[in-house]
Amino acid sequence: MTQAGRRVRLLASVLAALAVGCSSRGRSPGGNAGRTIVEASPRAVMGTECVLKAVVPADRVGEARAALKRAEQALRRLEAVMSVHLADSALSRFNAAPARREIRLPAELTDLLRRAASFTELSGGAFDVTCGPVVRLWKRCAKAGRQPSEEELRQATARVGMKHLSITERGVTKLVAGVFVDLGAIAKGCGVDRAVEVLRGSPAVVGAMVNVGGDLRCFGTKPDGGSWRVGVQHPFREALCGALVLRDAAVATSGDYRRFVVIAGRRYSHIVDPRTGRPVEATHSVTVVSLPTAGKAPSATDADAWATTLSVMGPKGLALLEGRSDLEALIITGTPARPEVHMTDGFRRLLAPGTGINLE
Ligand code: ADP
Ligand code: MG
Repeated sequence: MTQAGRRVRLLASVLAALAVGCSSRGRSPGGNAGRTIVEASPRAVMGTECVLKAVVPADRVGEARAALKRAEQALRRLEAVMSVHLADSALSRFNAAPARREIRLPAELTDLLRRAASFTELSGGAFDVTCGPVVRLWKRCAKAGRQPSEEELRQATARVGMKHLSITERGVTKLVAGVFVDLGAIAKGCGVDRAVEVLRGSPAVVGAMVNVGGDLRCFGTKPDGGSWRVGVQHPFREALCGALVLRDAAVATSGDYRRFVVIAGRRYSHIVDPRTGRPVEATHSVTVVSLPTAGKAPSATDADAWATTLSVMGPKGLALLEGRSDLEALIITGTPARPEVHMTDGFRRLLAPGTGINLE
């Protein structure tokens, strides 16, 4: 990631965190009297900023602190298994393994790979966690200040595809050499879900918000009984372009303004089309909201994977959400001078009353 990329990403995440952070404290009318919010901002979780909040009765702050600590530990445990940046993570051990050797992996990693495989199928290959060779090629070329050659792209994409992985109860096997799994598009969401499950498990916690680098999930209410407000980052400048009002939901955003590489003065998204090996160009920002349905809680994992999927597919991907009550999405395409906003009707209904998406 470039310096500029890192700065923009930091700002975007901080803005998102601020947007959800306008918390009221203490007593309030309406049956929520005596509730308070306890916050934690553990450093460098999953390589990004992280904000955890728990709403508890004012006399149970100690339990909130303990629950927040356990949630942080859950996030760090998951990172230790799934990070490609930690050489001794289970995923890195798998990536370093040769072809045709079955590698035993922790169940949570195998489960997430299975879930990732279902997204690959659903999206016709737009989402694919085996895109590692392509992602790494672009990073390497950016460092050298050049574009990858056609031959390099061909070689990298030849190693991309879930068909190159065999996933069984016993373990995971690479079927060809050079497969590299990168869970960057889904692991943060999975972490958010895990942290929320921990907080839900604490009897004192009546509401919570977990935000890992802009991917987040909330439940319950703020101490004053009000809903959670979540800012939508403006893709073209350092501002918010909308606000969501949510109770029990997960939200993820993917954008080319957040992380990118620069080659010869031109920005390239960190999201690639695994089928062509080329960075996504037309979609600047995607925000996906996952909502509860009968029998299923909101899923930050789904929101995260869908945000990346729709970044690759563009507005036509919204057709996949038709008839689904658990997912709503916003896609911003076009140019700063002529932005184009595409959203599901349900997404519009989640915006703060009387507001829209403002790309001025
Ligand atoms: P962010 O990390 O900014 O929230 P995403 O959730 O969209 O953004 O994840 C992007 C990361 O996922 C990339 O940095 C790369 O590691 C990986 N990735 C890129 N393109 C794809 C894709 N088409 N399918 C799956 N993973 C991808
Ligand atoms: Mg994602």
